Amino acid sequence: MAILRIKTDKDPILRKTSRPVEEINPRIRTLAKDMIDTLHKADGVGLAAVQVGVLRRIIVVETDPGNPIVMINPEILESSGEQDGPEGCLSVPGKRGEVKRPNYVKVKAMDLDGNYKEYEGTELFARCVFHETDHLDGILYTDKAWKMINPDEED
Ligand code: ZN
Repeated sequence: MAILRIKTDKDPILRKTSRPVEEINPRIRTLAKDMIDTLHKADGVGLAAVQVGVLRRIIVVETDPGNPIVMINPEILESSGEQDGPEGCLSVPGKRGEVKRPNYVKVKAMDLDGNYKEYEGTELFARCVFHETDHLDGILYTDKAWKMINPDEED
């Protein structure tokens, strides 16, 4: 168990493309567990490996508290609809922005046992999956926000 240091948006690693995981080994399992611990400590709903400095296609999504989903090599199979709302990022501390995202997602990913599974969901789950998979391609939500929110103006 370890809490990892989260890279912030001044770090150029966040702009790099992550590489697929070829095999689930003890290092990958430890990384995934540490990512979950780090996500809990930061009180977030999602984290990508690149945010802790590892350029591998691994994300953790925990929109259902207590049930983190580790997605390895996630691949979006379907998306539809639209939602618009505020988004933040553990790598962009103190900021939020309005981002349009599809409202529905179906995603395929490998789990820590090496099995591919499909997950689907709407609203926050979908938003989180798009946000985290963007990280794997070096994209930050600030690239997509149509308006940044000044924290002082939020109620
Ligand atoms: Zn993020």
